[in-house]
Amino acid sequence: MSTTPLDVLRRVFGYEEFRGEQEAIINQVVEGGDALVLMPTGGGKSLCYQVPSLVRAGTGVVISPLIALMQDQVDALRALGVRAGFLNSTQDYQQRREVESAFLGGELDLLYLAPERLRLESTVELLGRGKVALFAIDEAHCVSQWGHDFRPDYLGLSELHERWPEVPRIALTATATKATHAEIATRLNLDGAKHFVASFDRPNIQYRIVPKNNPQKQLLELLRTEHAGDAGIVYCLSRNSVEKTAEFLTQNGIEALPYHAGLDSRTRAANQARFLREDGLVVVATIAFGMGIDKPDVRFVAHLDLPKSVEGYYQETGRAGRDGLPSTAWLAYGLQDVVQQRKMIDTSEGDEAHRRRLATHLDAMLALCETVECRRVQLLNYFGQAAGPCGNCDTCLTPPEAWDGTIPAQKLLSTVYRLQHERRQKFGAGQIIDILLGKSTPKVQQHRHHELTVFGVGTELSEGEWRGVVRQLLAQGLLAVEGDYGTLVLTDGSGDVLGRRREVRLRREPKREPRAPRTAKKAVVEMPPEAAPVFDKLRAWRAGTAKEQGVPAYVIFHDATLRQIATAQPSTLEQLGGVSGVGENKLAKYGQQILDVLAG
Ligand code: ADP
Ligand code: ZN
Repeated sequence: MSTTPLDVLRRVFGYEEFRGEQEAIINQVVEGGDALVLMPTGGGKSLCYQVPSLVRAGTGVVISPLIALMQDQVDALRALGVRAGFLNSTQDYQQRREVESAFLGGELDLLYLAPERLRLESTVELLGRGKVALFAIDEAHCVSQWGHDFRPDYLGLSELHERWPEVPRIALTATATKATHAEIATRLNLDGAKHFVASFDRPNIQYRIVPKNNPQKQLLELLRTEHAGDAGIVYCLSRNSVEKTAEFLTQNGIEALPYHAGLDSRTRAANQARFLREDGLVVVATIAFGMGIDKPDVRFVAHLDLPKSVEGYYQETGRAGRDGLPSTAWLAYGLQDVVQQRKMIDTSEGDEAHRRRLATHLDAMLALCETVECRRVQLLNYFGQAAGPCGNCDTCLTPPEAWDGTIPAQKLLSTVYRLQHERRQKFGAGQIIDILLGKSTPKVQQHRHHELTVFGVGTELSEGEWRGVVRQLLAQGLLAVEGDYGTLVLTDGSGDVLGRRREVRLRREPKREPRAPRTAKKAVVEMPPEAAPVFDKLRAWRAGTAKEQGVPAYVIFHDATLRQIATAQPSTLEQLGGVSGVGENKLAKYGQQILDVLAG
C-alpha cells in the first residue's frame, strides 16, 4: 500500500497543491536523504516533515524546544486524524508510558520530543526499540552559539546520525543569515544534506516605519482604524513600558495582556495561553515573548521601541500573518531610540569586539529605518536576496523625499562644535535645537547661549524637523551621543561635513501615514464584503467548538479556510470538501455543523 505525498496532502490536510519547494523537500526526505530547510515563518515548514512521516514506515520524531506548544501541535494533528504524541517534562509517568507504548506498538505517525530528552539513555533506547521514519530538527538555529536562541542540548543532536545512519534528518529554521545557515550545517553534521533556501519575502506583511511622537496614541489610532478586533503583538523594550502600554490599551477598550520576564511564570503562561486560544486579543510584551508563537492569525506586530538588529526585527514582525492574509508590521521610531540604544551599547558588558558587533547590528537597523527606498528590498538585501520595489510598504506607498541636508547639518554640527570648543560644554538635542531656533528659554539665558553666533540661525526648520536631522545624523554616524544625559558630541565624520568635504542626504517624512491599498500579491484570500457576516457566524461557531474541546480556535479551522467557506457558501458535504484546508477527517467531524451554520 503506497501513498504518495500528494495523496497525503489532499486527503489528510485538505490542501490541493504543494507550495514553493515543499514537494522537492518532501521527496528528498521520503527517499531517505537529509535536508536543511531555510524558510520564512508561515512558509509551510511543518508539512515538510509531517507529510514524509505519514508516507514513510515508522514514526517521524520531531525535536522541538517549544515544550509549551507541543500540546497544541499534537491537538492540531489529531484534529486531522494524524496519530501524534509528545514526550516532555510536563507529563507524569503514566502519560509518558502511554505515549511510549503507542510508539513501540507502531501506533504513532509523529512523536514530538524536547531536545533534553534525547540526552537520556532511556529515550535513546526507546527509539532504538521502535521504528523511526525520520528525525525533524525544528528551530535548528538553536544549535548556533552566536544566535540569541542557543540551546546547549541541540549540540548533542549531531550524534543522531551516528546512532541512526539510515534514518533521514531534516533540519528547519526561519533564521535567514548566511552565518547561521553555515553553522547549522556544520554543527548538525549535515554534510550530505540538500539545502533548500526559500525566498524570505513575506508578501502579505505590510512594513511601515513611522516617526515616533506620541507612541501610545499612534498605536491606538492604528488599532482603531485598521485592526479593530484583531489579534496582535505589541513589543516594548522595558517591563515598565509593557505594563503601562497594556494598561493604556485596556483603558481605551482594547483587551491587552502584558507579558515580560518580571511576571511570575503562571501569569505568563496563562496570558500566552489566552492569546493563543481566544480570538482578537492583544499581547504587549518584551522580546521574551514570541519564539514559536505559531498562532496563524496574528494580524499585526507593532514595535514601540527600536529593535536591536534587523534579524530581530525580521523575526518579530514575522510572527504576523502566518496564514498568508494581509497583516501589518508597524514600528514607531524616534531620536530617543537612537540615543538610548547607543548608550546601551556603550555601557554593555563584553569586550570591544562585542560592542562593535552590537553597533553594526544597530547601524543596519537604523539604515532600514532611514531608507528612502523600498523597505522590503532593503530587508531582503540584508539577507542576501534580491528583490524589486514591493508596492506594499510605507516607502513604496507614500515615497519620502530625499533632500540635501548639508547646510542644516553644518549649522547643527557647528553649534555642537562651538559649545564643545568655545565653552567646554556639552548639551543634549533639546538645548541645541533651542539655540538653533533662537529660543530665549531660562536655560539659554542661564548659559548665555543667546550670545553664540549660531543663536537663531536655524529658523528655516521646525523643532520636529530639527529632531529628524539630529536623529538622522546620529544614524549616519555624523554625530554621537555620550554619557547619561544623551549629550551630543562630534565624530570623525562630523569634520568632513563641517569642512564641506561631504554632502548629507536626509529623508523628509511624508505628511500622512499610508493606509491600504493592501496589494499583497499572492497567498491572500480575498473575501467579498457580503461574506463578512457569514465569516463572523463561522467564527462564532468555531470559538464555541474550540472552547468545548479546550483547543485553540485555529486547531478547528484556520481563518483562511473559514473565509473561503464564507465566500463559496457550499451547500453539500462534497462541495465543502473541495475547500482548501478541509481534509477528510475534519469534513467527517465538522462538515454537517458547518452546513447547518451556513443554512441557519
Ligand atoms: P512555518 O512552520 O513555516 O511557519 P506552517 O507550517 O505553520 O509554517 O504553515 C503556515 C500556514 O500555511 C499554515 O496555516 C499551513 O496550514 C499553511 N500551508 C502550508 N502548506 C500549505 C499548502 N501546500 N497549501 C495550503 N496551505 C498550506
Ligand atoms: Zn516596498
